[in-house]
Amino acid sequence: MTRPDVAPPRCRNCAEILAPPGHVCAKCGTAQQLVHMAPPQPLVVLGAQKSVGVAVVLSLVWFGAGQLYVGRRVGLAIGLIVWDLIIAFFNFTLVGAIIGIPLWLITAPFAAWLAASDAKAYNEDLMRR
Ligand SMILES: [Zn+2]
Repeated sequence: MTRPDVAPPRCRNCAEILAPPGHVCAKCGTAQQLVHMAPPQPLVVLGAQKSVGVAVVLSLVWFGAGQLYVGRRVGLAIGLIVWDLIIAFFNFTLVGAIIGIPLWLITAPFAAWLAASDAKAYNEDLMRR
């Protein structure tokens, strides 16, 4: 976003730029009426919410990636990542895939559900702030 340019405060008598903004003009000595500007308000950042869809898709690409995207339960994410590494190790060979593919299929819905609930919980926390 662009912030509208704020004109520098000027002396109300001689229009000298008050630098630093003070009570009294350094040039003519006129006492200034201080205008207190409101401090910049924190922006409500739209899009700060985590997409449940992205979390689920990432989880299916690699278990635990959804949690890393959401930034919750990083310990669980590391566990899932290691678990996916083990599955990938099985799937490295055709015979291993007999074990690896069922392991993946069993874990996938669980990992996707975890990522979706983490994304939802994250968004709910965001609303509560
Ligand atoms: Zn002045």
